[in-house]
Order: sequence, then C-alpha cells, then structure tokens
Amino acid sequence: MSAPTRPVTIPTLRLSIGGELLDSPEGLDVLDPATAAVVTRVPVATPELLDRAVAAARRAAPGWAAMPLPERQQRVRAFAELVEEHRSELAALLTLEQGKPVGRAYGEIGSGLAYVNAFTRMTLADEVLKDDDGELIRLRRVPVGVVAAITAWNYPQMLSLWKIGPALVAGNPVIVKPSPYTPVSTLRVGELAQQVLPPGVLQVLAGGDELGARLTTHEGVDKISFTGSRRAGRAVMAAAAPTMKRLTLELGGNDPGIVLPDADPGAIAADLYAGGMSNCGQVCAGLKRLFVPTARAGEFAEALATVAGTVVVGNGFDAGVDMGPVQNRPQLERVQGLLADAQRRGAEVYFRGRAPDGPGNWHPVVLVRGAGDDVPLVAEEQFGPVLPLLTYDTLDEAVARANRGPDGLGASVWSDDEEAAEAVATRLDAGTVWINQHPMLSPDAPFGGRKQSGIGVESSMLGLHAYTDVSVLRVKHSVPR
Ligand code: NAD
Repeated sequence: MSAPTRPVTIPTLRLSIGGELLDSPEGLDVLDPATAAVVTRVPVATPELLDRAVAAARRAAPGWAAMPLPERQQRVRAFAELVEEHRSELAALLTLEQGKPVGRAYGEIGSGLAYVNAFTRMTLADEVLKDDDGELIRLRRVPVGVVAAITAWNYPQMLSLWKIGPALVAGNPVIVKPSPYTPVSTLRVGELAQQVLPPGVLQVLAGGDELGARLTTHEGVDKISFTGSRRAGRAVMAAAAPTMKRLTLELGGNDPGIVLPDADPGAIAADLYAGGMSNCGQVCAGLKRLFVPTARAGEFAEALATVAGTVVVGNGFDAGVDMGPVQNRPQLERVQGLLADAQRRGAEVYFRGRAPDGPGNWHPVVLVRGAGDDVPLVAEEQFGPVLPLLTYDTLDEAVARANRGPDGLGASVWSDDEEAAEAVATRLDAGTVWINQHPMLSPDAPFGGRKQSGIGVESSMLGLHAYTDVSVLRVKHSVPR
C-alpha cells in the first residue's frame, strides 16, 4: 500500500443511491481548509433524490435483515477490506477536506475500520429469559429499520464508520449524510460500498443541514444516529418525535481534567497537551478545561508551554506537521471570538505558537490562564486549539466546578495514586471518566454522553443493541413439559 500523498486530481464524486452512482442538478463546493481554495464540487441530494434513496433502503431492508448474521458479517468484512485497500486514497481526500495531517487521516480510517471489524465479530443471539413447563420467553433483537447516520466535520471517516458497522451488522440499511464541510471521503466510501453490498444497503448522500432535517422527519426513516452539536441535536430530537424514530445522539462536551496535587508536570504535560489539542482541539471528548492545584499552576503552565513550543502547525500534506488548520471559517471565527473575549475579561495568554500566514483557517496553539468559570471560553465548548488552565484550592471545589454546566461527555483525573484518582473520578458526571489519559476510545467500551452531551451510546455490544429493537416471543406450551 502506498503512503497517502496530496491528490493530483480529485475524482468526480457521485451520490450512491439504490446501487447506482448518481449526479444531481444541485451541488456544493468543498473548500480546502489549508488554502481556502475550492477542491471539488459534490452533488447534493435534492428532496427527490432523498426519496429515491429512502425507497431503495426500504426495498433492501427485508432481504438484508433476513440474511443470516454470519453472512451479513462476511459482507460487512468485505466492505471493510475494500475500504482498507483504498485507505491511502481516502486519507488523502480526508486531509484535503478536513485539514488534519495525512498520517492522522490514515490513522482515523484504520481506527474506524477497527470498529467495523469488531462488530463483525459480535453476536446477536436470542436470549432465553424463561423456559419452564408452562412457558418459553425469548428475547430477540430485531433490526430497527432504515437508519440515517448524520455526522460532523471533525472525524468524518471515524464517525461514519462507527455508525455503518453496527447498523449493517444489526441488519439495517443505512443512509449516511456527512457534514457539508467534509462530504468528499464519505461519498467515496459510498461509491466503494456499491461493489460489495446489495443495492440500497449503504447509501451516502451529500447535503447541508436542510438535508439532515429532511432525514429526521422522513416517514421512511426509522432511526437517527446523530453526531454533532447540541443545537442540532435538540432539533433532531424534536423532529424525530412525530414518527417516534429511535435516536442516538452524540453531542458536544466541555470535558474537565483534574490534576491531583501529587502529579508530576514534566511527566504528564505531553499527555495533557494531546488530550486538549489533538485534531486542532476539534475533538468532542477532548480536554477542554484543565484544573490544576493553585500552588502548582506555574509549573504546569511552564511544562505545557514547553510541549506546545514543539508543535508545528501547517498544511496536513507537509512533512513534519503536527496540527492542521481549523476545519472551517465559522469555527475559526468562533475560536478567535472566544479568545478575544476571554482576554478582554482579564485572561492571560501565557503561550502563543506560530501558524502559517495565508488564506487558510490558520490558528496558532494558544494556552490561557486566569479565565473565570463564567467566561464563555471556559463555560462553553471551544472546539479549537485554545486550552484554558484553571486553578483550584480544594478537591471538593474542583469537582463541583468540573461538574458545572450541561455537558457530560468525558472527564479525567491525573495522579500516580490510582485509588485517590478513582475516588475523584467517580464523582464526575461524565459518560467516560479517564484516569491518566484523555480521551481513549476503543470498540470494546461504550461511548456516549451524560446530561446534555447525548442520549445512548456507540460502540461495544451496547452500541450494537442500539441498532435493534427488542421483540419478545412468549410461547405458552399447549402440552405442559
Ligand atoms: P453540527 O450540529 O452543525 O452538524 C453536524 C451534522 O448535523 C452535519 O451533518 C449537519 O449538516 C447536520 N445538521 C445540522 N443541523 C441539522 C438539523 N437541524 N437536523 C439534522 N441534521 C442537521 O455540528 P458540527 O459543527 O458539524 O460538529 C461539531 C460538534 O459535534 C461539536 O459540538 C462536537 O463536540 C460534536 N461532536 C460530538 C461527537 C460525539 O461523539 N459526542 C463526536 C464528534 C463531534
């Protein structure tokens, strides 16, 4: 397999609908966040094309659901193998549309495929709840129906593969709608899928928020698996109500990390930095509020600045680049606005890195201290390369402040004393609490948000079950056993 490089030409991409690759009278331009240049124009699913895709999915549903699980898993494995064969090409498209360093793009696809493959090894066996002389009670997990998978722009490949794998394995056709900022590599995956999956089983439609809204109200869609902002998540939940669609909502977070007094700044600074700044700070469960003991704030600021000073920001195709641009212009402006506002309110920038000049969405790594908890940079999800350092005097105070607000996605505690760390960790209101790492996700552990960070979980058996309905079979034995 060749290493991914900057694509010389971008393939003309099509919508995958009913086993065919279709163009559309409407399109949208996709920009390279590193240059602001249009890299390609992709077709947009009009209401008519959406209806066509939903109809194809409904036609495909009974056959796909009736296929024995091992055979279905075999087909999903074939899909994963095909994506793996095209991983370099897809990674290059991902860097072009998303901006992340191409090695990370390559890694993202591999990680997404690890999830898909994990689901191909899980079983959905019936569960006998009772079997006695009078009655047999059997719990069956049946496919939920047509799934719409709506994804965000920070990890287009991973987020869509996280949904495609379990939806298909559980016996559902899936229609994927990537973010309008990053539809390219997902459309390409949709094209590839047509080579190995029956028509209508996996379709990819590009379009804006209005296409997402249409999916969430469509009579022919049974479940929405949504990853994105809380604002849109609320709209999705309301839109799903009239038709009682099943919902998985993976929304934003404002993860706290609490460093205990014993922790060694030099030993953990690199992990703290990566927890907050990987993917240019655009990670749902990234470390977004770092709490350190007041007495040690200076040491931590120094250690973090030392790590940040080694980071190279640049075009994701250039060698040696650690961090790309912010993915889109509105997000860049939001991060710039949050930072300027925090500075106006007295926050101090104690480290500012370098970023390229030019028309891309460039933002340097910025480390901030002295911002109050009510400053929006701290109180809200910043989703960019600006990390606030906050100080605390007592652990009770740190826990209370960490639990403030509507978010509950991830949290972390840092200490060599695992027992002490666990005592703090279990007091944090989050879907995942890490100790001495942040974030760490894997196919064997459920991932989801508490409070307003989401509903339901992805990954693991629980994530697979989220693509099924429970149907109970109760047999009254006519002849007592
Ligand atoms: P967004 O909500 O603006 O968009 C996400 C997707 O939803 C896009 O495909 C968009 O077109 C679609 N959409 C927007 N409005 C919609 C509506 N009313 N109905 C249906 N679909 C609609 O979010 P974004 O800016 O692309 O992503 C950033 C957010 O996603 C951050 O808050 C981040 O934390 C969150 N996120 C969460 C997770 C997680 O697993 N919890 C993972 C990645 C990102």
